[in-house]
Amino acid sequence: MTTTFKNFIGGAWVEPAGGAYYENRNPADHDDLIGRFPRSSAADVQKAVESAKRGFDLWKRTPAPARGDALRRAGDILVRRKDEIADLMTREMGKPLAETKGDVQEGIDTAYYAATEGRRLFGHTVPSELRNKWAMSFRRPIGVCGIITPFNFPLAIPTWKIFPALLCGNSIVFKPAEDVPHTGHVFIEILLEAGVPPEVLQLVHGVGEEAGKAIVDHPEVPIVSFTGSTETGKLVGETCGRMHKRLSLEMGGKNAQIVLDDADLELALDGVLWGAFGTTGQRCTATSRLIVQSGVHDQFLGQLVDRVKKLKLGDGRKSGTDVGPMINEAAVRKTEHYVDVGQSEGADLLCGGRRATGKGLEKGWYFEPTIFARVQAGMRIEQEEIFGPVLSVIRVNTADEAFTINNDVKYGLSSSLYTRDVNLAFRALNELDNGITYVNAPTIGAEAHMPFGGVKQTGNGHREGGWEVYEFYSETKVGYVDFSGALQRAQIDNY
Ligand code: NAD
Repeated sequence: MTTTFKNFIGGAWVEPAGGAYYENRNPADHDDLIGRFPRSSAADVQKAVESAKRGFDLWKRTPAPARGDALRRAGDILVRRKDEIADLMTREMGKPLAETKGDVQEGIDTAYYAATEGRRLFGHTVPSELRNKWAMSFRRPIGVCGIITPFNFPLAIPTWKIFPALLCGNSIVFKPAEDVPHTGHVFIEILLEAGVPPEVLQLVHGVGEEAGKAIVDHPEVPIVSFTGSTETGKLVGETCGRMHKRLSLEMGGKNAQIVLDDADLELALDGVLWGAFGTTGQRCTATSRLIVQSGVHDQFLGQLVDRVKKLKLGDGRKSGTDVGPMINEAAVRKTEHYVDVGQSEGADLLCGGRRATGKGLEKGWYFEPTIFARVQAGMRIEQEEIFGPVLSVIRVNTADEAFTINNDVKYGLSSSLYTRDVNLAFRALNELDNGITYVNAPTIGAEAHMPFGGVKQTGNGHREGGWEVYEFYSETKVGYVDFSGALQRAQIDNY
């Protein structure tokens, strides 16, 4: 029997106002129907915002350390349910269990970090210009937060946003990506069990252009946090700009791994395999460009193609699977399209390049890990985000040429450099235009207590994770207390 899921609005699990639903299927097996989920409309979002305003009034008065206690309990529940959540997450989005367990672990780490932040949320107390007067700043919550997330980290990315938003005293209206609603459902269950008051949390399932857009458009949602493609982020940004909303955008990437002649090639090989084909290339930080210095180019590429051909595609819930399916048919088509583009641009297709068929793969959205060589800077496959298992390899003669190519794209999320030259490594940290640079490690691997985000068209200057995200979800307020008993005038020339 098919399970029909509900939204969580006004402290209760409720059906969508319009009564419409959509199906969520397992990308490794189209016949496996996970459930029917609400296709919500602006009417549902309206109810969600009304409830979230009531939730905000309650939650903002709860002391921050007590808010943190609820998040610690959420972390404890995630620990208890880790294997179960990883399994349902793999079932709905495909990446292997080791990766979905990592996704849950990221949520656990984020919960425990947030819990302790409830005892910090520092402001500043500074000397006043005047006698017998105190000057201080402190942090206040903002209101109803609109939270819109992508499919590739179904738990981790919502926790990056929702835990700090709650810790700061805000309420939330959360719309998970349409391909991963089950994980969103379970996350709300966990927050409720952890003791977050019901009206603080609203879950509105549905399609981006309908439910997502209605959240962004709503005048009583003063703050929006969005992770997804640069194209969608641009639309979200236009609305938020017009309505003067606080907005955090985390968007696309075209990340490069640079391998220089002096690199540890075995290490670099492991790095690019994981960076390019982990999560089937569907990571914002995926390695989609490999820039190799000419002295090691041919040897490295030969070894890489051998290793890639040995990767085992399959259902992420089966042991031995290295690479799972893509998220849906549209993602496979987009990847096929870029393979055509690469070939018409004159790049050499060394392996992959088509839908994977074969035993056990018939009912899934599988795509063969793909490598293009002889890619030139400026080609579309070198510039545009494909978001699939496709790696473009570019040959360079010098480190400086590699740095220029790394920087010459519109995105700026992560980069990676393999070298044994310590001076060059530090120079790269300064010169590579990305939010994150790894030395002798792949382009993926963010840690929960460090700021995460990118420059240029990847982001709009905010960071998730670490200490910086708390700035985004709270407003600085300044208080002056004058206990002199006399009128003291600041901004006046008293000298
Ligand atoms: P997407 O842009 O298609 O969707 C993201 C979310 O936005 C979904 O919940 C979707 O329903 C919603 N949405 C769609 N149209 C909307 C609209 N008009 N108004 C409001 N919401 C709308 O992205 P995706 O395919 O789910 O994820 C892949 C993209 O996300 C890639 O570009 C990837 O690089 C990016 N990403 C970035 C980061 C980061 O931190 N920089 C992390 C993960 C993924």
